[in-house]
Amino acid sequence: MDLLERQKDFFYSGVTRPYQYRKRALTLLKGTIKNNESKIMKALQRDLNKSDFEAFTTEIGLVYTEIDFVLKHLKKWMKPKRVKTPMTHVGSVSRIYPDPFGVALIISPWNYPFQLAMTPLVGAIAGGNTAVIKPSELTPTVSKLIKEIIDQTFIEDYIAVELGGVETSQKLLDQAFDYIFFTGSVPVGKIVMEKASQNLTPITLELGGKSPVIVHDDASLKLAAKRIAWGKFTNAGQTCVAPDYLFVQENVKEQFLTYLKEAIIHLYGERPLDNPDYGKIVSDKHFQRLVGYLNNGEVCYGGTVDEEKHKIEPTILTDVDRHQAIMHEEIFGPILPVLTYSHLDEAIDYIRRQPKPLSFYLFSETAHIQNTVLEQISFGGGCINDTLYHLGSPHLPFGGIGESGIGSYRGKFSFETFTHQKSVLKQSSRLDLPFRYPNKKNRMKWA
Ligand code: NAD
Repeated sequence: MDLLERQKDFFYSGVTRPYQYRKRALTLLKGTIKNNESKIMKALQRDLNKSDFEAFTTEIGLVYTEIDFVLKHLKKWMKPKRVKTPMTHVGSVSRIYPDPFGVALIISPWNYPFQLAMTPLVGAIAGGNTAVIKPSELTPTVSKLIKEIIDQTFIEDYIAVELGGVETSQKLLDQAFDYIFFTGSVPVGKIVMEKASQNLTPITLELGGKSPVIVHDDASLKLAAKRIAWGKFTNAGQTCVAPDYLFVQENVKEQFLTYLKEAIIHLYGERPLDNPDYGKIVSDKHFQRLVGYLNNGEVCYGGTVDEEKHKIEPTILTDVDRHQAIMHEEIFGPILPVLTYSHLDEAIDYIRRQPKPLSFYLFSETAHIQNTVLEQISFGGGCINDTLYHLGSPHLPFGGIGESGIGSYRGKFSFETFTHQKSVLKQSSRLDLPFRYPNKKNRMKWA
């Protein structure tokens, strides 16, 4: 029997449904991750040159936070919710049951290879599902370790990992899973949606795109520069919600750029390529693509590369031609194009003409500027006066809009994503009101 059928059987046996089972599974998962913490750090270092600090704060720690949060609230979330019943339904009781979908397929990318496979899994388990994870082939050490961790913790009929690349992914997508949770690029997201449509499988698409930043002249410029540099150059810019390009108000451009350069030096030193904790680009293909962007504008800072180590300095580009590739493709690397505006409307208008971004960041101290921008720009999620931080809160749903994705997850939103809201009306057999049935008295005039 193949994996999907075995998981379906396991799901229909009912064992994954009780609260105690889900709680135990999440507790066991956290325990195995803890036991393998140093191995995970080594694997992340090997595949992406992530420092232990970055590995913990952006990958392992986030998974712990998610598990702890879910364990704290799961019992309450699982309770069927009683809702009102109209007068016409007198005698009956209405409830909404959060019902597991069944077998979930989780496909994850390479940039946060551990966290982006595990966090959706926490939601799938919390929802009472079984799951198959297909991690990325571009981070083989981490993906292999994910399989080891899952195999150490669960039987395959419950949670399984399928290693492989595009072909494996497509074979899985051809099967009738009960839910598909995909994190990755926009083009592959479209393929996933098309495949899901064959079986009308519900999906979540966590995609990418170009996340803009606006720095208005009333911003706390020095702090803005530090938080932007951190958000952009963490994991060498290979973050789905990293600031992609930046609009700064013309009159503060020079001051802001000075602070931005200082912030880069403060975070990564004068020679980031020699900094052992500065990330590398995942593959030669991505490295070459990024190097190609360096001549899409004027290199204002950085620009040096190390082909052997696949490293690119934190780079600021100015005088960027808006028709060049760097302004049309997701950069996904440590190159930040800086554009300017005189009036806020110019920046808003430009952003609104692009596909709706996954994230957006505004730096401004004025409430009416903040409100104007929030009202006028549509985006998945983001921050005012910070970058990336919204991602670290299990209280906020994380997801895109338009081309940047469909659906959201984290915390309670993950539980809702991985459960179907099953509506049930429980009728009384003692009372049977006659007016609902056709009879001579209530027959419509034209009948
Ligand atoms: P990708 O779309 O190339 O790959 C993601 C997964 O899909 C991998 O497991 C891969 O094996 C599989 N895949 C690749 N091509 C496929 C195909 N033709 N058919 C079926 N499956 C296929 O993405 P990536 O390069 O691994 O990750 C980078 C992208 O992911 C960026 O666009 C980034 O913005 C996005 N991303 C989004 C989020 C989010 O939460 N929204 C998080 C991280 C990354």
